[in-house]
Amino acid sequence: MDCIQQKSRISEHASEACIFCKIIKGEIPSTKIYEDKEVLSFLDINPANKGHALVIPKKHYETLIDIPEKEIGKIMEAVQKIARMIEKNLKPDGYNILMSNHEAAEQVINHAHIHIIPRYKTDNFKLTWTHKKYEEKEIEAVKKKITQNL
Ligand code: ZN
Repeated sequence: MDCIQQKSRISEHASEACIFCKIIKGEIPSTKIYEDKEVLSFLDINPANKGHALVIPKKHYETLIDIPEKEIGKIMEAVQKIARMIEKNLKPDGYNILMSNHEAAEQVINHAHIHIIPRYKTDNFKLTWTHKKYEEKEIEAVKKKITQNL
């Protein structure tokens, strides 16, 4: 079995148990707010704020970089459309776009998904992180590491 075949079998197996794939197939109900050929968006049932939406590719991909380049544009277009719908019709004070990739980044469902979270000045939702410091010249070393092997 070559690598591509093996990867596609793993992906098929993963998608059988995947709650988002079941939502796409209609096996689990969802509150859909947008759908096209490649993309589905529905409301998160445990929202950070009311109107919190998820945008997912209809094909099972685990993380952002698993999504083929030719498909990512459609997904980001849908994210912008839904953000526009939320801003125009819910009139929040702002919104966050958030995507968790891998367990360490708190990805819970292993089907790539982008959160659109309406935000209000008075909400208690906080995105916080500590501001770490680079040692002298370390930022250049990190740049070198990131940009190698392109
Ligand atoms: Zn899936």
